[in-house]
Amino acid sequence: MENKKTDFSEWYNEIIDIAGLSDKRYLIKGMNVWLPYGLKIMQSIDSLLRDYSEDGGINEVSFPVLISREQLEVEFEHVKGFENEIYWVTRGGTTPLDIDLALRPTSEAAMYTMFPLWIRSHTDLPFRIFQIVSVYRYETKHTRSFIRVREIHFYEAHTAHKDFEDAELQMENYLKIMDKLSEDLCISFSMDIRPEWDKFPGAMYSVAFDTPMPGSRSLQIGTIHEYGENFARNYGIRYLDDEGNMKFVSQTTFGLSERLLAAVIGIHGDDKGLILPYKLAPVQVIIVPIQGDEYDKILEYSTKIQDILKSIGVRCRIDERDYTPGYKYNDWEMKGVPLRIEIGRREVEDNTVTISMRTRKKKIKISLDELNNIYSYLRDVNQDIKKHASEFYNDNRVFIDNIENINEEKMVTAYWCGNKECSDRIEALSEKTALGIVRNDNEAGPCIVCGKPGKVSAFSRTY
Ligand SMILES: [Zn+2]
Repeated sequence: MENKKTDFSEWYNEIIDIAGLSDKRYLIKGMNVWLPYGLKIMQSIDSLLRDYSEDGGINEVSFPVLISREQLEVEFEHVKGFENEIYWVTRGGTTPLDIDLALRPTSEAAMYTMFPLWIRSHTDLPFRIFQIVSVYRYETKHTRSFIRVREIHFYEAHTAHKDFEDAELQMENYLKIMDKLSEDLCISFSMDIRPEWDKFPGAMYSVAFDTPMPGSRSLQIGTIHEYGENFARNYGIRYLDDEGNMKFVSQTTFGLSERLLAAVIGIHGDDKGLILPYKLAPVQVIIVPIQGDEYDKILEYSTKIQDILKSIGVRCRIDERDYTPGYKYNDWEMKGVPLRIEIGRREVEDNTVTISMRTRKKKIKISLDELNNIYSYLRDVNQDIKKHASEFYNDNRVFIDNIENINEEKMVTAYWCGNKECSDRIEALSEKTALGIVRNDNEAGPCIVCGKPGKVSAFSRTY
């Protein structure tokens, strides 16, 4: 396997391949096949997102994939932002269509033509929905599995509120969802307010979640957008307030994709392969029976262990394949399984199991009675992953106070006045683009380029 530090790009492609996550040999570039193991991991992420969204009062829907040109062109700025990325359906069989149909690049235009039918009164608000669907964008840049694809596995939440203040509260609620999710995924991120020229088309402002990745580039793993009344005015989304006045709603959105999986692969993995936080792992515990004398008893004992673990909700499996234990150990380590249980004759005789953690070298022997405690070992693995990831984040996101250090092979933060001339200068020097002012950092200082008053801002080469 490739060395992760010396060639991250190669390592990344190779691990996706050998762990069986995705196959990019499909005939349409940028449209990849989800393989069973990769799909299972993504479905675990989706399932966490479903739970957290529903806990936050956001309900799941599913919209049609096609949007008519008319619908799409209602919001000019929005459609302009996507005009080079839309796939168009222009024929039904051999008949040219009266109106061209777009494969959704995102679902504002689809949803907001329905919102006026559903939102009439202040009692309908706040109105909150999400969907997890494929969206389509004609990417012209180099495609890369889970990072830049043309068919995107997309989570999008859309909400409508009685006023701007209530919409702002929703922005805070999105952050709570993101915090819970990043805790499960064991990744850290910075919240950067995208510059005016890089915000979502049609938004008042956009906040992106950026995380440094190996390969000295950062990855945008999610975004939240405050729309204010921008879309509502164009799509006519109004309601009757409690005093009988018609008002426009204020809207927000939250978008995530399989880039979450890319971050998990890239940040946690090592030269042995994937390392998966236990909530994501398709197999949380792999049981390896060691072949030898009285193998029947070993298998029987392994099944007993599996039954106990399954009864407490652990996803576990017995590896009965005809390979050496060493081969099996490597194989499951490559797949990032958090815990391995080895069972030989001795374990059967002592009523014990030997546990090996993906993140530690030392093995632990526990008695059968202690098996109920398995979650504490899974949490220990998560703690190791989190510690490693947070060290990586802190090492790869550094503050600089001198423009001469702009070429650090990292994500950097520095004081910036917010002007494009200054960020263009930074980009010319380092290929780093302005990710924006860091949301939760109120420190102020002189802009690293022009010396005018600035705020802490993030810059990075990006994927
Ligand atoms: Zn400046």
